[in-house]
Amino acid sequence: MTPRHGRLAVLLTGVAVAAIGSFVLARLELGNLRSAFETDARIVHRLLSQRTAQHEAVMAMLTLLQSGNRAQKPEQRIPSVYPQILAVQQRSDDETWPDAALRTAEEESSRSRRAAMTGVNFATGRYQLVQAAIPASYAVQIDLRNMVPWEEWPMSRETSPVRVMLEYKGEQFVLQPGHAGSGWWQFDFRKRLAAESQPFDVVAMLKVGWTDLPWIKMLGWTLLTAAALAALLALERQRAERRRAEELLRLGQVARLNTLGELAAGIAHELNQPLTAVLANTQAAGRLLDDDPPELGTARAAMQRAAEQARRASDVVGRLRRVVERPDIAGQLQPVSLEAAVRNALYLLEPELRRLEVKPELGSTTTTILAEPVALEQIIHNLLSNALQALAQVPAGTRTLQIDVHAGAGKGELTVRDSGPGIAADVLPRLFEPFFTTRDGGLGLGLSLCESLAVGMGGTLTAANHAPRGAAFTLQLPLAPAA
Ligand code: ADP
Repeated sequence: MTPRHGRLAVLLTGVAVAAIGSFVLARLELGNLRSAFETDARIVHRLLSQRTAQHEAVMAMLTLLQSGNRAQKPEQRIPSVYPQILAVQQRSDDETWPDAALRTAEEESSRSRRAAMTGVNFATGRYQLVQAAIPASYAVQIDLRNMVPWEEWPMSRETSPVRVMLEYKGEQFVLQPGHAGSGWWQFDFRKRLAAESQPFDVVAMLKVGWTDLPWIKMLGWTLLTAAALAALLALERQRAERRRAEELLRLGQVARLNTLGELAAGIAHELNQPLTAVLANTQAAGRLLDDDPPELGTARAAMQRAAEQARRASDVVGRLRRVVERPDIAGQLQPVSLEAAVRNALYLLEPELRRLEVKPELGSTTTTILAEPVALEQIIHNLLSNALQALAQVPAGTRTLQIDVHAGAGKGELTVRDSGPGIAADVLPRLFEPFFTTRDGGLGLGLSLCESLAVGMGGTLTAANHAPRGAAFTLQLPLAPAA
């Protein structure tokens, strides 16, 4: 997975986590709202049921009271005890009800042996209960508005969004208005009151809209996810930087092995021993010859040892030269993708490319060549570094870096073209000479090593200028035989 794909994957995962988390939070909140609504509705139902049961009890009590002292008319005190009961009427055996509805209700009451309801008027908020009894029947008028025990009501009547109504025969009496507005979700509650004599339905309804969702929590969760994501990306970027630094160090180490300093140190180390021995032996031989008489045999042996050591020193120099001139990499060739090697080198140079505002393009072809991977990487890295050094010398707007890879005639070819100052005519023939440089602090070993490596792998490295301006370096290496 490339770093860009990695970042995209992390980003998509983050978006998914934020979305799923927010969804779960919203569902939880809706669940909470629903259970709070249902609890409130059940409490409302219980309170109103208690009241209607109380009405039945009052009616029963009235019929029991009539055997006592009628002169006091105890039923007339009922409204002061039960504020919802507005008036109590009595019909003795010798009287008739003022309206027919009461009469019908009384008949029903005597049939069912419990109170009967009549005169339900939701406009005025009143209804009547009639209880048939002997010697007198009773009718009470009940005020729905006063029937609700507001002090025990589970919601704030004015501000609660829940709408509560009593429903009877399709008509509704609103006890609590709630918020009528449009909502995406609606919770409903409907249950008949417990007292059979007053068959009202308690209907409660709550509409929940977008604004009721836990936006703060959802936002918090999203921010949290974003922060975690940013941390993850930062970590990933840090890791990539470290990997790049390590790779650069590795390339640098390979390069440094071939630099003058390392070479000199190696030579010094290898030559020091034999040269010291040569010195010691010739000094000893000199002293032996000065003796009287001179010790010719021993002196000759010392000179022989000195000559042996001198030969050893010469071998060291010869070996070193062979290593430098013809790196033995021909035996380590393997199929490698030229494009992949270029991409890897570009990745390592990304900070530098960004700094110089250079955006090289590379096609999506795959050209498989035979090469030693580290040597190939080294060459490409050197060519690109040189190109960037050249580009740093020209104004930002004029910098272009063109990379072409193609296959043809048994060779894979990579061309790196920059729009830098180009190569002076007198410099061009000397470019691949060891220690040739025009840069302050340059060693002049880069291109010479690259050429040696290219030749060592059976390829070539050439340089040219190109129009309108800039240098072009072309690396050719044998194509890998098709599998
Ligand atoms: P160094 O980079 O240490 O000078 P090199 O062998 O890499 O050694 O390069 C040798 C010389 O070749 C450079 O000093 C520079 O003059 C020249 N050169 C290399 N690449 C380019 C390029 N892309 N454009 C112009 N000159 C270049």
